Amino acid sequence: MPVDRGDRLASAASYRSADAADDPALQALAEAAARALGAPVAGLSLMGADEQHYLARVQVPTVVLPRHLSLCTHTVSGGRPVAVGDTLADPRFADHPLVTGEPHLRAYAGVPLFGRDGLPVGSLCVLDVRPRGFGAADVAVLERLARAAGELLELHRRDAGAGLAGRDVLAESLRLRRAVDDGELRVHYQPVADLRTGRVAAVEALVRWQHPEHGLLPPARFVPVAEASGLVVALGRHVLTEACRQVAAWRAAGPGTAGLRLAVNVSGRQLAEPGVVGTVHRALEEAGLPPGALTLELTETALVHGGDVQPALRELRAGGVRLALDDFGTGYSSLAYLRDFPVDELKVDRGFTASLGESARSVSITAAAVGLAHELGCEVVVEGVETPAQLAHVAGLGARYAQGYPRAGAGAGTGTGTGTAQVAPSSQPAAARGGASR
Ligand code: C2E
Ligand code: CA
Ligand code: CA
Repeated sequence: MPVDRGDRLASAASYRSADAADDPALQALAEAAARALGAPVAGLSLMGADEQHYLARVQVPTVVLPRHLSLCTHTVSGGRPVAVGDTLADPRFADHPLVTGEPHLRAYAGVPLFGRDGLPVGSLCVLDVRPRGFGAADVAVLERLARAAGELLELHRRDAGAGLAGRDVLAESLRLRRAVDDGELRVHYQPVADLRTGRVAAVEALVRWQHPEHGLLPPARFVPVAEASGLVVALGRHVLTEACRQVAAWRAAGPGTAGLRLAVNVSGRQLAEPGVVGTVHRALEEAGLPPGALTLELTETALVHGGDVQPALRELRAGGVRLALDDFGTGYSSLAYLRDFPVDELKVDRGFTASLGESARSVSITAAAVGLAHELGCEVVVEGVETPAQLAHVAGLGARYAQGYPRAGAGAGTGTGTGTAQVAPSSQPAAARGGASR
């Protein structure tokens, strides 16, 4: 199938923005190519519409080359290796200014660099100033090195997507690892109000890092690093165990909280971990909580990037644990997930709640989510309910559960973020009102 030029350029651009140009590992791959093929010149580059951008160079004097001067353009647009033992004997190269003039490049071998979508985004090439032969084994070496380069680029792209570009992920992971071991993680609890009873039905556990120098860090500051390094598995186990213990204690504390439920966020990486089902049940058993007291909250990203998580999810659900689709409405194909992935609960993203007063579209989407959830037999939790007006709006749309922080002056202050005092029974644990830590 011919490669669509626009698709290819968009793919290449996505790797360029990941800013991999200073990665010594990419430089090592270019040097390995030169060494393996005994060539004086090598380059690893991404191909833009008008320019070739080098990420790693051996004896290449420039970082950016105008495309009409690039020898790799055939390799990239063709999407297959090009090996030319004598450039003067090949009509594609014979008139090329870098062949006819300085530095008189006489031999070229290049292989495409493929992105995750299978499109050629750039190339790995070697060049020589003397004519020479290139064998199949040479091309195979280049292809192996280019594959490794492609995987590195993909890591850079993921880091950039997770907001980690330019951050020292390794150092931060090591620091976070110690934080987990040293007990610097805290769990805060945000209440979910049942609008029918006016009581707190559940709490969502939200992790924090009590950093000795930087203070209390929100999850956005360290969960992406935990995801990238795999530490999120240990982190998630800690949150789950701690939250089960805390909620069991609140349930035991009074009749008003005997049925309190717990929601815990899980990432795809956690669900893909062998033994995750056992981990969840162990946490419940140790705390003395029934499986039905726990809801695991997943995002579509967790479902897409978590590997094969379906078997674990099915097993957990069969064992009585509830599942929620988090951030509903923000992804790109929520409805497809609902077809393949049975959930007990939809959580409508707080972005919609914030604009309920101003945006008719947000009202429509929230109303549709409520209707859809009920059609599918699941509950709806609307997030980010901060004001009495929002609460009234949400209740009017037929949602049963509301979650959020009260805004100063919006309500009695003892509420659950729904702005009313009666929502939280006086026996409600303090932590469920203000989000205190353990
Ligand atoms: P989320 O699961 O969508 O959690 C809801 C986030 O929205 C929380 O932010 C919560 O504090 C905030 N929020 C909810 N209602 C309101 C409101 O009325 N007003 C305002 N201003 N904010 C509200 P937080 O705690 O920063 O968590 C951010 C995200 O971090 C969570 O989004 C979740 O995806 C992730 N996260 C939190 N804890 C964990 C954890 O233990 N494990 C994993 N894997 N992810 C976690
Ligand atoms: Ca959540
Ligand atoms: Ca959410």
